[in-house]
Amino acid sequence: MIRFDNIGKWFGPLHVLADVSGDVAKGETVVLLGPSGSGKSTLIRCVTRLEPIQQGRILVNDVDIASGGVDINQLRQRIGFVFQAYNLFPHLSALGNVTIGLERLKGLPRNEARERGLHELGRVGLADKADAVPARLSGGQRQRVAIARALAMDPEIMLFDEPTSALDPEMVSEVLQVMRSLAQAGMTMMVVTHEMGFARQVADQVWFMEGGKIAERGTPAEIFTAAESPRLRQFLTLGR
Ligand code: ADP
Ligand code: MG
Repeated sequence: MIRFDNIGKWFGPLHVLADVSGDVAKGETVVLLGPSGSGKSTLIRCVTRLEPIQQGRILVNDVDIASGGVDINQLRQRIGFVFQAYNLFPHLSALGNVTIGLERLKGLPRNEARERGLHELGRVGLADKADAVPARLSGGQRQRVAIARALAMDPEIMLFDEPTSALDPEMVSEVLQVMRSLAQAGMTMMVVTHEMGFARQVADQVWFMEGGKIAERGTPAEIFTAAESPRLRQFLTLGR
C-alpha cells in the first residue's frame, strides 16, 4: 500500500533521508524506531507530502504521490495523521472536533456528521465525552479524540508520530490500546514510537532508523531477540 522507492531528502545541505526503500503492505503495522534526529518523523511526513522529497518516489496504492494527477487534499483525507501534540480546536467539543472535518471536507450534513462522529468517539471509548471541550479532557482522552477525528475521514492508512510521548504514564496504555485494536482490525499503519512493548506485540515489521537510513529491519522477533548491529543493541538497551 505504501512503497518507498529509493527516496532522498535534504534540508538545505543536511541529508536527512538517504536511499530509503521499503514496503508497507495493506493491513500491516510498521513501527519506526531510532534515535532522535534519525529521520523518523520526516519519513512519515513525506507520505502525506507535508515534506517534499528530492530523490526517488513514494507510491501509495501504486500511485506516485508527487505526480500531477494527485489531489493533495484527497491524499490527506485518505491518510490519517496523529501527532505527539493533539492539535484539537480548544473551543469545540470532542464531537465538534470530530465532525468539523466531516462537514467541511466531506460535505456531510450536520446530523449525519454527528451520527458518524458519535460512532467514532465510541470506537475510542469516549462516547460519554462527546460534549466535553478539550480542556476538560485528560491528555489520553484528547489523543483518543485526535484518533477518532482521523478515523472519521475513513482513511486507508494511519500514521502516528510519537502519539504517546507527551502523555503522563498512566494514560499511555489507553491510547496504545486503541492503536492495537486498529491494527488488529486491519488498518495499514506506520507508527513512530518508543513504546517497545507495543512494537513487540503489534508490529509486523520494525524499521530501525539511524542517520536517515533504515539501518536494520525485521520482524519484532528478529529485531528484539536477534539484533545484529551493535548500534541497535545499544538503542534497545539504553533507549537512545
Ligand atoms: P526524528 O523524528 O527521528 O527525531 P526528524 O525526522 O525530526 O528525526 O529529523 C531528522 C533530521 O532533520 C534532524 O537532523 C533534524 O534536525 C532535521 N530536520 C527536521 N525538520 C527540519 C526542518 N524543517 N528544517 C531543517 N532540518 C530539519
Ligand atoms: Mg520525530
